[in-house]
Amino acid sequence: MTFKSAYTKLIIFYMAIVMCISLTFSVVLYQMAASELGRGLGRQTRAIRDMPLPGFPFSDLERIRLEEINQSSHNLEFQLLYFNLIILAAAAAVSHLLTRYTLRPIEESVDRQNRFTADASHELRTPLAAMKAEIEVALRDKQFNVTDAHKILQSNLEEIDKLTILSNALLELARYQDKERIDLKSASLPDIIIEAYEKVAVLAEAKEIEFENVLEPVKIKGDAQMLTELFIILLDNAIKYSPNKSKININVFQKDHFAEVVIKDQGMGIKASDMPHIFGRFYRADSSRSKNKVDGYGLGLSIAKQIVDSHKGTIFATSTPGKGSTFTVKLSVT
Ligand code: ADP
Repeated sequence: MTFKSAYTKLIIFYMAIVMCISLTFSVVLYQMAASELGRGLGRQTRAIRDMPLPGFPFSDLERIRLEEINQSSHNLEFQLLYFNLIILAAAAAVSHLLTRYTLRPIEESVDRQNRFTADASHELRTPLAAMKAEIEVALRDKQFNVTDAHKILQSNLEEIDKLTILSNALLELARYQDKERIDLKSASLPDIIIEAYEKVAVLAEAKEIEFENVLEPVKIKGDAQMLTELFIILLDNAIKYSPNKSKININVFQKDHFAEVVIKDQGMGIKASDMPHIFGRFYRADSSRSKNKVDGYGLGLSIAKQIVDSHKGTIFATSTPGKGSTFTVKLSVT
């Protein structure tokens, strides 16, 4: 509704501007033409008065002059009116296109925000509902004792932890969403990868996962903090979805004007039917949700994609279910 009224207002506004210009132009044109015509006919009349035609009275000449001026003024008025009507029709069409062009990105951004709010509240409701149900059951229980209370509090604490993780991910997603201006600085890609690796090393050690890295000294233009976040997400996923004692390869190299980071794991892989959706918000493949019960909210890869997009880079994945996945990030070099 707000958009409809903004849309109408903007069309009227654009049309008003075009019509103001067109009308001013017409008035000026009319005055210039009328005075030019008056001057021209005046000169003619004076010339004829100085050289009178025999049998043609001067008063007739004056009358003809006035009639000619009136006739020409009417013609001009009619033509200008016609011209302004054409301009009005053209202005309506152009304003419509211009308004659509101006409002479309805003409308898309508002749509995205609305979808984000709807998705976020849906996800936040699940742990809250679980906590509420447990507390209600406990309050109805007449034999509720300290041991039960301990269990409930423990379970509530777990739900609160999940909520904290979720709200942090949501905040991050909101922070990177529509981020147009980022602080691009020259940075060493291997340093960024090493920093990200250090953040997830404990998880890898816990699963005895071995890393094999080939890191060429490539420099890129980017926001080091955001890129570290990107690779933490990819490495965290590679570890999360890999079995114990498997191997992860990280390769960093330069190809033409691009730096490429390839992260390859030997994990559960991703089904072809899930592939088109993994970068979408809150998307989790069934295999990661149910069978293996890996923690997550399906936000990591959408944050990763936003970071890559804000660097005007590309990210894509290939995978063979049961064998492993490979995520490739391409960024511009300095
Ligand atoms: P999360 O890991 O929190 O579920 P992500 O957005 O990071 O969310 O990933 C979306 C989905 O993509 C995951 O649920 C999982 O099914 C799949 N996925 C991502 N990375 C990998 C990987 N390295 N191996 C297998 N599946 C993966």
